[in-house]
Amino acid sequence: MHILSVDQFTKGDIEEYCSRADFHSQFSSVTAQGKILANLFYEPSTRTSSSFYSAMVRLGGHVIPINNVAFSSVAKGESLEDTIRTMQCYADVIVLRHKEMGAAARAARVSEVPIINAGDGIGEHPTQALLDFYTIRKEVGVSHGLWVVLMGDLKHGRTVKSLAKLLRLYDVRISWVSPPELRVPAEFVHPGEIETDDLPMVLPYADVLYVTRVQRERMDALVDCSYVITEADMQIAKPTMALLHPLPRVGEISTAVDNDPRAAYFRQMRYGLFMRMGILTKVLEVPHHL
Ligand code: ASP
Repeated sequence: MHILSVDQFTKGDIEEYCSRADFHSQFSSVTAQGKILANLFYEPSTRTSSSFYSAMVRLGGHVIPINNVAFSSVAKGESLEDTIRTMQCYADVIVLRHKEMGAAARAARVSEVPIINAGDGIGEHPTQALLDFYTIRKEVGVSHGLWVVLMGDLKHGRTVKSLAKLLRLYDVRISWVSPPELRVPAEFVHPGEIETDDLPMVLPYADVLYVTRVQRERMDALVDCSYVITEADMQIAKPTMALLHPLPRVGEISTAVDNDPRAAYFRQMRYGLFMRMGILTKVLEVPHHL
């Protein structure tokens, strides 16, 4: 089983991943003993590569870390397909991050071992969406009418696209806040949803504010825009709101906000570890507990 897009998940799948994550947050299990994960990263990563690495080792498995393909045969011109054919000889699961949209699906076509899409350009980041959803569930709960504000570079950001698709399975309200140049592609916006560059207009209603950075590496020309969540913004937000960010942040959330109990972005990383342990036991088809 591959994990390529949020489109493949049912509500039942999401519930299962969340309960697996719950399990791993409480108990240790080494059910992936003897299994090997290949981390194959064509784009930079800190959290996704390290959390999959940590998850696999905590499950008793091993990791082949290719965190910079510049030091692999990719630098000699090897195709993605041949690199996948190679890694599947050595690994039981391949975690792939690539700069091109659709790369994970291409890899899956030639792979006999599960491919996990760890971000394909401006496409998707399905495991991030699962951990974001899990964070929302743990921090505020996913109740009827939950109001989620997605903010930042919605045009190039992949995490917002995957998260929005996943949230569509639940009865939540999504609002989109971005500079006009960085609006989400129209197909993601449902009729009646608010699209604005005016955060204070929607912030008082938000149960979740999900902030993303400007994806400068994906732009031909630099867009001149900046936005920063400050303590003043937090004052108009609900006392129960959760503030999320997939990270890295590069100035969009003031460090002065870090001590606010609503700042959930550091906890979000920890939830991500447990979620990725759950994802690995599922795709490796090993029991998640002994
Ligand atoms: N780490 C996330 C990603 O890989 C978010 C980001 O880079 O802005 O998409």
